[in-house]
Amino acid sequence: MYRITVEDDFSSAHRLREYQGKCSSLHGHNWKVRLTVRARELDDRGITIDFGKLKKLIASLVSRFDHVDLNQIPPFDRLNPTAENIARTIFELAAEELPAGIEVDRVVVWESEKNRMEYSGE
Ligand SMILES: [Zn+2]
Repeated sequence: MYRITVEDDFSSAHRLREYQGKCSSLHGHNWKVRLTVRARELDDRGITIDFGKLKKLIASLVSRFDHVDLNQIPPFDRLNPTAENIARTIFELAAEELPAGIEVDRVVVWESEKNRMEYSGE
């Protein structure tokens, strides 16, 4: 199995619904996102997926969440914008865009340098 990883980041505001504590108030984070995809086979060139394509994919995914209030935009206008839900949403959006034979392996989202969570779909 071949695994390829790219990283990108975005800045946004959010507030957690049905949560007792500071995070129920509007506040911001500089989120870091790590996207890892996997493939069993290489193409004729010995490549799984071009790094350039993967960088464009993660850039397009995070750009929709950059400099916005997450609670105001889909799917977080109805889905609580927790790090868990952000990771799963990016995982699912990436899966829709990948070519045949390439799967999302995992998405890691950092809410701060010290706190991160990971979604692998398993
Ligand atoms: Zn927060």
